[in-house]
Amino acid sequence: MKDVSEAGAVRHIDAFEFVRLGRKVEGRAPLVRFVRLLEGFPEQDPAAQVHWSAAADRGPLGEPLIRLGVETVLTLQCQRCLGPLAMPIASQVALQLVESEAELDAPDVFDESDLEEIGTERDFEKVLGSRKFDLLEQVEDELILSVPYVPRHDVCPAEGGKSGEEPEKRPSPFAVLAELKARSGDVGK
Ligand SMILES: [Zn+2]
Repeated sequence: MKDVSEAGAVRHIDAFEFVRLGRKVEGRAPLVRFVRLLEGFPEQDPAAQVHWSAAADRGPLGEPLIRLGVETVLTLQCQRCLGPLAMPIASQVALQLVESEAELDAPDVFDESDLEEIGTERDFEKVLGSRKFDLLEQVEDELILSVPYVPRHDVCPAEGGKSGEEPEKRPSPFAVLAELKARSGDVGK
């Protein structure tokens, strides 16, 4: 696919054609380019990359789908200690291509038998398909949705640090031995 990225170059596809031909693409883009995502975030690792993939698929009713996968590591601010928090993100979404704005908002209508067949599998995110469909825009949307609402360390380094000073001050076994020897010398006198 010529129009899809080397080194973060973009990224537009003819979305319906993509599904019709059963295509699959993947790419990498520097995390720092996702400015909408990163607004309000602490400084990111400048080397961080977003790895993404897009694969054509069909829903149970023949809906044109693009299965999008995104992976990266975000630097967030821990809401407990306010320190930086490296948060691996790995998320997938099934985008259902629709042809008009009206369809985006329209409720899905099925007959009962279809619904039974479909079950819970049918969890698609409707997006407006186009001939210049911007994959990285979708990647960014998915990343935004994947950011935890209240990111927190499992164990904050600050907390670990406070109690962590103690173990650091603990003397080495050799120092302990030396002290014991010295003491036994005292006792023996
Ligand atoms: Zn923390």
